[in-house]
Amino acid sequence: MILTLIEHEAGLPEDTSLEALTLARDVAEQSGAPLETVVFGDEGGAVADEIGAYGVGAVHAVSHPELDTYAPGAWAESIAQLVDELAPEAVVVPGSARGHEVLAHAAAKLDLAMAANCIEVETGDSYELTRQRWGGTLLEHARLSGETKLLSAAPNEISAEPADGGEAAVQAFEPDLAESDLRVQITRVEESDEEGIPLGEARTVVSGGRGVGSPEGFDKLEELADLLDAAIGSSRAAVNEGWRSHDDQIGQTGTKISPRLYMPCGISGAVQHMVGCKGAENIMAVNTDPEAAIIQKAEYAVIADLHEVVPELNDRLRGIDA
Ligand SMILES: Cc1cc2nc3c(=O)[nH]c(=O)nc-3n(C[C@H](O)[C@H](O)[C@H](O)COP(=O)(O)OP(=O)(O)OC[C@H]3O[C@@H](n4cnc5c(N)ncnc54)[C@H](O)[C@@H]3O)c2cc1C
Repeated sequence: MILTLIEHEAGLPEDTSLEALTLARDVAEQSGAPLETVVFGDEGGAVADEIGAYGVGAVHAVSHPELDTYAPGAWAESIAQLVDELAPEAVVVPGSARGHEVLAHAAAKLDLAMAANCIEVETGDSYELTRQRWGGTLLEHARLSGETKLLSAAPNEISAEPADGGEAAVQAFEPDLAESDLRVQITRVEESDEEGIPLGEARTVVSGGRGVGSPEGFDKLEELADLLDAAIGSSRAAVNEGWRSHDDQIGQTGTKISPRLYMPCGISGAVQHMVGCKGAENIMAVNTDPEAAIIQKAEYAVIADLHEVVPELNDRLRGIDA
């Protein structure tokens, strides 16, 4: 059996979980094994309705009187107990922050190896994997062995595809948890007070880097973003300077974007930045340096001072609007 983990919001599975499920189904088909999943919380039934179409036969709905929020140690302990009980051939989790955290804990508890960010799996006594390193700028071939293989699916790389599945049966599971498993739990959730289009979902993104020169320099970029119905982002350099909040950062340690048009202004195109925007369909860079790395990666480039180009662009766009 192949076991997966589904993260969900009020019973609605996260996209990264459906991606992991698609990879897990491929693994299950290769091995001729059934596909089952673990869900935390009381919405096991709702999740089962959503994922039956992905070929899942059983949903193990984990609940415990002390477990009403995300608790990485307790989630990992629950998965470890399910692995002991069900002896799955593999556990496949979403390549999300939680997926990675929980599987790393579970791997330590089970004394098993774990491979993160997989995009392809060839099954066998040991698994041959293709997995992403460095935020997807490097692909690595690796071999994973162990009685149960633990792996995560690289996020935003596998398209989630339902199969001809039927209904998934829900089976309640109450783990045996110690106080120490619940040491880390969410106690409060604060919504971001940022307004406007979320960066990760925007179809157009305008962003600025060190070349913008000051926090006030972003005023014209914000105007441009307004005119284009775009979200605004930045490089880490602009965040480090204190010009923008970390919520705006695009890159390896920021948000990953996949807009139709990305307009980096005054950004050099360091690899850690490009990791965050490699999903963009078109890049139009504004930079004074024709040798900047971003220019090599861009479909369109304006080699000029952004402080001249952006206001001019705003005037012209306002002209079109009028
Ligand atoms: C572990 C790690 C993680 C990192 N994660 C991230 C990340 O998530 N995101 C990220 O962005 N970076 C990240 N970085 C930092 C990254 O390596 C770069 O330092 C950063 O992206 C540089 O930002 P920048 O392009 O704005 O600045 P610079 O590299 O200084 O580039 C400024 C650019 O502006 C141009 N310019 C200057 N003036 C103008 C003007 N008037 N008009 C037009 N162009 C102008 C210059 O020609 C230059 O190309 C990370 C680094 C490390 C080590």
